Amino acid sequence: MGEHVHVRIGHGVRVSDDGDLVELSRCRCGATWAKSYRVADGAPEE
Ligand SMILES: [Zn+2]
Repeated sequence: MGEHVHVRIGHGVRVSDDGDLVELSRCRCGATWAKSYRVADGAPEE
């Protein structure tokens, strides 16, 4: 196990209740990621 290399496919962008941009990605295996960007300073936050 663990040989699968996730391929993050952009799945959309939404805005959280806090006003942050949240970039959604998913791999075909079913794994998902949500990376938020605080618009105020532009620093990525995981
Ligand atoms: Zn995967």
